[in-house]
Amino acid sequence: MTVTSFNPPLRTLMGPGPSDVHPRVLSALARPTIGHLDPQFVAMMDEMKGLLHHAFQTENPLTIPLSGPGSVGMETCFVNLIEPGDRVIVCQNGVFGGRMKENVERCGATAIMVEDDWGLPVDPGKVEDALKANPGVKAVAFVHAETSTGVQSDAALLCRLAQEHGALSIVDAVTSLGGTPVLTDEWGADAIYSGSQKCLSCVPGLSPVTLSRRAEDVIRGRNHKVQSWFMDLNLIMGYWGDSGASRSYHHTAPINALYALHESLIMLREEGVENAWKRHARMSKALVAGLSAIGLEMLVDETARLPQLNSVKIPEGVNEAEVRRRLLVDYDLEIGAGLGALAGKVWRIGLMGAGATPKNVTLCLGALQAVLT
Ligand code: PLP
Repeated sequence: MTVTSFNPPLRTLMGPGPSDVHPRVLSALARPTIGHLDPQFVAMMDEMKGLLHHAFQTENPLTIPLSGPGSVGMETCFVNLIEPGDRVIVCQNGVFGGRMKENVERCGATAIMVEDDWGLPVDPGKVEDALKANPGVKAVAFVHAETSTGVQSDAALLCRLAQEHGALSIVDAVTSLGGTPVLTDEWGADAIYSGSQKCLSCVPGLSPVTLSRRAEDVIRGRNHKVQSWFMDLNLIMGYWGDSGASRSYHHTAPINALYALHESLIMLREEGVENAWKRHARMSKALVAGLSAIGLEMLVDETARLPQLNSVKIPEGVNEAEVRRRLLVDYDLEIGAGLGALAGKVWRIGLMGAGATPKNVTLCLGALQAVLT
């Protein structure tokens, strides 16, 4: 059998992620690999923390990229902050809240569920009621940007409610970071995790996280050892924590992927994170206006709609999989299918990071119109 190099087609990625990776980021990935304790690499790690402070709008010292996809960020937050016997309020309004529940239960804790319909934001009134009915809960966990529906919840209010009741807040910002305001310090959030492959437009496989000093104290004061060796932040901080010579080996860092993230964060810094949020909002407005002009309706009300993830209702009688297949084959354009309860009911059109451009909006509208008529 002859096996040749894999040369992927040149697609335009307008699904729920991964998003288009900018050529600057791809070329950073191809730079020579050096050691993960090389002084020059360590200096780059320090810069990376500063760049992540800008992206997360925080001064939290524990702000680092974890080795692994967004799911590693999620699990790291839960296994470090939650212990057997704890109770955690978990908000679910889509697929990813369900994963938080799984994480809580696998930590030996109890998940107290606050559920909202898919397509609606988390209802802060229900969260407040749950906090009042369950004094002493350890944390409130919610998804800021629900990728399965395209809904944004009020993170500032949910974090404040948690804080007022003495609970930690654990926030999924996998789809929000870089695309819509993530204001870690202003919200008073305790743990936020994200992913490299959405609005940061980096290659998949890294999970930036930030944890408050309060969260750090909780981790240091645990009664039980963190059950995961790989995700134990006490150990990871030996590598990422201090600068320079005191760093020690924990696991071999994904060195070239970190070059790529460094480059994508430089690009975010150059644009300015506020300008990136505005660009995502502008592109989504243009897309929604065009979709409406060709007779398509959005799932989510404008007040809670994410600019970077636009869920479009599939018109009656349309073979949705065939539409996506034709977009891919005829236009090299990927859009997303519905997930979970919304499978077959919506398409998910991503406008993320380097892909949130007028060119992509125009391509998507033109291609959809052509395929649908
Ligand atoms: N949380 C949300 C909201 C997501 O959209 C995703 C991925 O799409 C994840 C968590 C999991 O991230 P990953 O697939 O990088 O593990």
